[in-house]
Parts: sequence; C-alpha cells; structure tokens
Amino acid sequence: MASWKDYVRRVEPYTPGEQPKEDNIIKLNTNENPYGPSPLVRKVQENIDDLRLYPDPTAGALVEQLSAYHQVSKNQVFVGVGSDDVLAMAFLTFFNSDRKLLFPDITYSFYPVWAELFRIPYEQPKLDADFRICKEDYYRENGGIVFPNPNAPTGIYETLSFVEDILEHNPGVVVVVDEAYIDFGGESALPLLPKYDNLLIVRTFSKSRSMAGLRIGYAIGNPELIKAMSDVKYSYNSYTMNRPSLLYGVESLKDEAYFQATVQKIIRTRTWFGKELRTLGFTFPDSKANFLFATHERVSAKEIFEAARKNGIYVRYFAQPRIDNYLRITIGTDEEMQKLIDFLKEFLS
Ligand code: PMP
Repeated sequence: MASWKDYVRRVEPYTPGEQPKEDNIIKLNTNENPYGPSPLVRKVQENIDDLRLYPDPTAGALVEQLSAYHQVSKNQVFVGVGSDDVLAMAFLTFFNSDRKLLFPDITYSFYPVWAELFRIPYEQPKLDADFRICKEDYYRENGGIVFPNPNAPTGIYETLSFVEDILEHNPGVVVVVDEAYIDFGGESALPLLPKYDNLLIVRTFSKSRSMAGLRIGYAIGNPELIKAMSDVKYSYNSYTMNRPSLLYGVESLKDEAYFQATVQKIIRTRTWFGKELRTLGFTFPDSKANFLFATHERVSAKEIFEAARKNGIYVRYFAQPRIDNYLRITIGTDEEMQKLIDFLKEFLS
C-alpha cells in the first residue's frame, strides 16, 4: 500500500553556521558584523499596538528609501526576508528552463539546495586552482547564471568588466549577481543596470548594515524582472516583511556616516589581521569581504577549527572537497581578532 512517505518532497537542507548558546564566546563563523546597527535604528519608537495590523504588503516605505538610496526607480526594487528569501524567489521566478543553471563549484552552498528544492537542473563549473571563477565556463548554453561577487567563502572579488563579459555572453537568460559582501571594498554592478535588462543584483542588510537578526534583503533590476518576482512572491506569501523590519530598515539607510565608518573599520581590521595571519604561516586569497579564507602551511584547518572552538572561538569550517583545509574567518573587532591571534600563536607553537 502506498504511504504518504512516498510523496514527501525530500531535500538535503542547507546547513547554516552554528549559533552557539554560551556567553563569552568569540563568534567569527557566520560573517556577522560586530558593530551593531546604526544608532538611528535604536531610536525607533515602535508602536506595539500597530502589530495587530498586517504590514504593508508592498513594503512601500523601505522600497522607497532603497530606491532613493540607490537612485533607481521604485519599480526596480524588490525586498525580502534576508537575501536568502530574495534569492529563493529569484530562483523560483527566473530559473524555469530545461537548460542548466550555472554557478561555481565552490560558492554559497545554498544555491544547490534551492536548485534541488525547485527541481532546477544545474551544473557547477570548477573554480580554477586559485579559486577564481573562469568566465569562459559561462559562455555556453544555460538556463541562467548566479554567482556572488565577492564570491563566498573565498572572498575573491571580480571586476565589473568580468561581470560585464558574462552579461555580454548571456543576453537570453537572467544573470543574478549576489552582492552580499560588496560593501567591503568591491565595486557594485549597479552601473551596469541601464545596459542589461537581464541583470539582477541581490543585496542584504545582514553584513555591512549589521542587521542579520532582522532579515532584510533586496534585489535591484529592470522593472520587468521585479514585476515577475513580485508576482511569484504574491503567489506565495504576501506579507514577507514585518512591521519592525520596515521601520528599522528605513532608519539604517538614513545613516550613511555610521555605515561608512563601520565598514571602514572592518576593512582596516581585515588588513591588519591578514598581516598577522601571514606571519603565523597562513595564506589566503585577497578578500573584499568581511572574512578571510585561510589555510595554514603545516596544521590542518580541521584541527585548528576544533581547538579554537574548545577555546570559545568559533570560525567556519567546510568539510567539502577542495576547501577542507581552509577556515573562513569573519572579521570582528580588533579585540576579538587579537584574541584569535593570541590563541593561534600559542596553538601553533
Ligand atoms: N549570499 C551569500 C553569498 C551569503 O554568504 C549569505 C549569508 N549566508 C547570503 C546570501 C544570505 O544572507 P541573508 O539571508 O542574511 O541576507
């Protein structure tokens, strides 16, 4: 006899980084920002009674603030519950072909999960030996393209002309550029939007705006792309953005000075911490993200990961072919990074 179990949609879920419960740990494993949201966000006076009301399904206030911030029109902006939600909606909306979706073999590990969930055929061209994306791999028939720039977990940034070459070769499919980490030193593909109606840029408030806990992400693209995504969203869940997210998100965008200052602090710490890591025998590709992807000349990444964890320092380790001797280390405060350096000095000696 048939069982309901025969009809379950089985998926291998994405594994997010650990969120340890203990206090007094140093958490450098999920690319959070150590500085917290803008003081303007702290000043928001929420009216709890308003929570009885549904939020604005169009997320109008946030869309408007984002459109002013990026100088695009409102119908070019789509917002969602973190960029994960936005990316999932983009996969569902645009990658609806029998041809294969292309993304790198080493990249954000949620991409294959959505592809499996939505039954999108896909292929993962290999990064080269230096972990660079080979753009020529994307010059062939496909059902769409997605890649992060800078890439994760490598932190490697590719130039705008690289992004443009991929767009030039793929006018017939949607190309999604996931700019989760773009604010930490890369140049955004936003200036390419007027030229390419198949470009969708996805961003998040989780990293450079230090609001991972609130879950705000957005996409910017041609109005037709945004309309198609919105139609899918309204066929799935009308009220994705809750009231507090809309209020806090708007305030964050008003405080450019705080945003710039905290991003610059992270970039300075990245430079300093990178030098320290090198003197300890680590190597890593040049990163334009808020993390370094480092390997040690002598001691295995797994050993370092486990020892650091025992000492209350959490970094990210991927037990995955090609990158299982690397650690992805989020850039925290100077003090946190100094503690990691002190631990490493002792552990490696
Ligand atoms: N894209 C990339 C490349 C990421 O590393 C992450 C963080 N896990 C995300 C998207 C999703 O971030 P969020 O949902 O917090 O916006």
